[in-house]
Amino acid sequence: DAESIYEEVKTILESKLMTVTFDTWFRDLVPVAVEGKTLILQTDKPLAKDLIPMRFTKDIADCFAQLNYEDFTFKIISPDEYDPEAQKKEDDSLHALTQKANLNPRYTFDNFVEGANNRLAYASSVAVADYPGNTYNPLFVWGGSGLGKTHLMHSIGHHILKNDPAKKVLYVSSETFMNELINSISNNTSTKFRDKYRQIDVLLIDDIQFLGGKEGTQDEFFHTFNTLYEANKQIVISGDRPPEEIERLEERIRSRFKWGLIVDIKPPDYETRVAILQKKAKINELNIDLSVLSYIADNIASNIRELEGALTRVVAYARLTCPGKNIDVEMAREALKDFTDSDSQKAITVHRIMETVCERYNLRMEDMKSKKRTKELAYPRQIAMYMCRKLTDVPLANIGKDFGGRDHTTVIHACEKVTEDLNGDHGDELRRSLEDIERRIVGE
Ligand code: ADP
Ligand code: MG
Repeated sequence: DAESIYEEVKTILESKLMTVTFDTWFRDLVPVAVEGKTLILQTDKPLAKDLIPMRFTKDIADCFAQLNYEDFTFKIISPDEYDPEAQKKEDDSLHALTQKANLNPRYTFDNFVEGANNRLAYASSVAVADYPGNTYNPLFVWGGSGLGKTHLMHSIGHHILKNDPAKKVLYVSSETFMNELINSISNNTSTKFRDKYRQIDVLLIDDIQFLGGKEGTQDEFFHTFNTLYEANKQIVISGDRPPEEIERLEERIRSRFKWGLIVDIKPPDYETRVAILQKKAKINELNIDLSVLSYIADNIASNIRELEGALTRVVAYARLTCPGKNIDVEMAREALKDFTDSDSQKAITVHRIMETVCERYNLRMEDMKSKKRTKELAYPRQIAMYMCRKLTDVPLANIGKDFGGRDHTTVIHACEKVTEDLNGDHGDELRRSLEDIERRIVGE
């Protein structure tokens, strides 16, 4: 916000300018707002209002550049020029515009966690949002369900509207596009439909795979696409797979999707899952111990929607069963007992590995976690740790913790032991066992 930006600018200016200069012109400027990329500063000295832009524009621009506020400028106003009521009206109208554009207020770049899994998709979305029509057009984002495609598209829309409320932004699912088309045909309002879609500046069209096999809709979409594209309007498309894998999609559409940039989003790695949970906890003002968030991240691996669902469930469970108490890992475990990843066939978690190894060696879950170190328990435990290391990206310390609060060195030792045995006299036999276990874990 304005205050924090000016605070940073001030720090640099103070170090660059002579104290008396700084005190005279900058010390009591009041940051009142940021409008788009303009920092609005207020002064009650008429002289300052004229003189600061004349003498210090370059200094201030250097500060913005140094702070990576790209293309930022400033404006000095007098007290009567800033009207909080007018500002509120503007906020209201921005709100109205986002509604008109079908944007969910929660899906913004601010609420989006960047990770190795979505880095390119995120960066290209930001680029498109900063310079609509001038970078990647169309931008095609694809990936599995619940990985953040819709969230990114809405974020692009919000960002563009915030920079330029005059831009006509529209988010639709492909299904809505089709339904509106069908309605317009039966109501004789095709012209209205065309005007609506061909006169916008930014079209965000979600889940395009839905158009597979819908020839009439594809035809209309093709013309919409061409009109927008030729007018240099930004088009962003999402799908659950890359264009060439969408079945029964006309070649002329498929090839247009390749004119721009195609990026994918993958399932999040462990660190990103934890970061996402931290963000969600913060947004919802929940104070939850990191150990609990790590536990959830360990156990829900495939999909961010499921990850959010698990967090909600843990919080609800804790409030109902232990009101007023801090949530701990034990509660989380209870809460998620019957809550499995809908993709659990694919999701390989520490928990799943432990279960599979238990099954194979006829042990109980408690045995994995117990302190007992008899050979019957210790070896399967080491194999399970080795598998966790091999098949997941969960950090060693967390693997150790899940095995009854052991240390990461225990996990390293287990991996070394198993590797050594694989190269030993009975290596082949062990390898077959491990392959068998792996098949069961992977669910083949
Ligand atoms: P998709 O459209 O790919 O099926 P969504 O965009 O609907 O997925 O995302 C599902 C949920 O996960 C949403 O609530 C969204 O806010 C959240 N989500 C997805 N990716 C992220 C991320 N990188 N950071 C924060 N939240 C995310
Ligand atoms: Mg979606």
